[in-house]
Formats: sequence, structure tokens, C-alpha cells
Amino acid sequence: MVLDDLGSSLRGTLDKLRGQSRISEEDVDEVVKEIQRSLLQADVDVSLVMDLSDSIKERALEEEPPGGTTARDHVLRIVYEELVGLVGDSTNLPLEEQTIMLAGLQGSGKTTSAAKMAWWFSKKGLRPAVIQTDTFRPGAYDQAKQMTERAEVDFYGDPDEDDPVKIARDGLEATSDADVQIVDTAGRHALEDDLIDEIEDIEAEVQPDRSLLVLDAAIGQGAKDQARQFEDSVGIDGVVISKLDGTAKGGGALTAVNETGSTIAFLGTGETVQDIERFEPDGFISRLLG
Ligand code: GDP
Repeated sequence: MVLDDLGSSLRGTLDKLRGQSRISEEDVDEVVKEIQRSLLQADVDVSLVMDLSDSIKERALEEEPPGGTTARDHVLRIVYEELVGLVGDSTNLPLEEQTIMLAGLQGSGKTTSAAKMAWWFSKKGLRPAVIQTDTFRPGAYDQAKQMTERAEVDFYGDPDEDDPVKIARDGLEATSDADVQIVDTAGRHALEDDLIDEIEDIEAEVQPDRSLLVLDAAIGQGAKDQARQFEDSVGIDGVVISKLDGTAKGGGALTAVNETGSTIAFLGTGETVQDIERFEPDGFISRLLG
């Protein structure tokens, strides 16, 4: 990991350890405080931050640095390993035939992410299709249609049908030539029973290989309840964090990852279909600390 990724104040603190062969408890405390400040500012849940701090402190003081390692490099390696442990690996997404269902509240960025993911898979040489089952939000059909046209991928939706399960069934059939079928679902403004009932019905029809939870980067404490509810109803295999081009750093989504025992799949970084990145730990860590 290059030090540049670490945020300037943390880098400064670590640089003070340069030339030291031993590390004191005060030094470790100072490093840990810097990390805590950045992570809390990025909306990472307090208890996750505390667990991480304890591990860093314990390891930095107890583990013997390998011969020839300076105090600074020793701490840096531990900090990096612990941060990688916090953000996790990228969700495993084999480039093969599969059905992916998106879940999340209204406005979280599902429809946008569906089209972006389809674009992403098409760039990987697969043939994707988006199936729009959101009959709840006015405009969802038109939005999905337009975005998939821009992404130049297959699309199925039915603006005259109000049963999302029927649309899902018809859509899977109509796009059966596609390699990757991405099923967009309706959200609600809040976690309501009818949302959970609906997504369970769609899930039963679609039987997706993967269900991804879409979360706005600005989500804070609310991530926990959402993650739990969706995990209990349909099971969450991965998280998509949208709107990372704004000021929010997406730390709240880590609560969802932790709560569902899942990983992060994609990051959304803008409003167009190309504004999508596959999650990778290093880049995300520098965002969190930056
Ligand atoms: P849905 O209700 O979950 O389907 O949410 P939408 O996909 O309609 O997204 C809600 C709003 O967020 C729309 O205005 C999108 O253009 C916007 N949006 C979604 N993803 C991103 C993103 O990564 N960056 C930015 N800046 N806006 C986004």
C-alpha cells in the first residue's frame, strides 16, 4: 500500500515514527486517534471503529516486528491489514450466466445501479438485460428504459402491468437470451411491510443467484435496520454503494456489510451509466481516510 493513500494527517503521525525502532503506547494511541477521527467522520459505526482500534493497539504493541522492520512500517502494516479486514473483499461476481436482484429503499440508486451494472457486464463481454419490476415509483420504467438505451443493453418492463411478480416472470422469459439478468425492484420511502412482502414474492419468482442491497453513500445509522430486514427476508450477498461522487464517504454501508456478513460489490460514482467501479479495498480505504 502506498502511503499516499492514507490521508495526510495520519501520514504525518506515522512519519513521526520514522527512525524509531521501538513503538510506545503513546505513539500507537496517537495513530489510532487519527484513524478513529477519519472513520467516524466517514460515518463508520462507532462499535466497528472501537473494535478496529483495539485490534490495532493490541497488535502494534504485542506483535514482534519482523527483523529489520522500523516501528513505522510495523504499525503501518498492521493498520493496513486491519483496515482491509474492516472493509472486506470485493463480492465474488464470476463472469458467467447469472441472475442478480437489487434491493433497497426508494431513492437509494437501484434503477441507476441496475443500468450501470448492465453496462459494466457488457464491457466484460457478457450480454446483460435489465428487468424493471418497480411499479411503485412513477417514472421508474421510463428511467430504466432510457438508461438501458444509453448503456446499449437489453431491457424489459411493462408500464401497463401493476403486478411486479408477473413482470419479473415475463421479463425473465423475454430476456432469456441474456447472460446476466438484472432484476430491479421497487423501494419505499421507509422499511414497510408491503415492501418486504413484495420483494419476498419477487425473490421467490426470480430465485436470483445474487441479491445485492443498494445503499446511498450518505446512509448513517439507518444502514443497520435496512441491512437486517433485507437480510432476514431475501438474504443479501453484496452491497452496492451509490453516490460516492458526493461528499459522503460510504462508511455507513460498512455496517450493512457487517450486519449481513456480506461484502461490497460495486461503487456508484455519478449519474451516468459509466459511473460505476468494481469495489476494491485499497481505493475504498483511501476514500474513507482521505
Ligand atoms: P431508486 O429509487 O433506488 O431506483 O433510485 P434511482 O436509481 O432513481 O436514484 C435516485 C437518484 O439518485 C436519481 O436522481 C439518480 O440519478 C441519483 N443517483 C443514483 N446513483 C447515483 C450516483 O452514483 N451518483 C449521483 N450523483 N447520483 C446518483
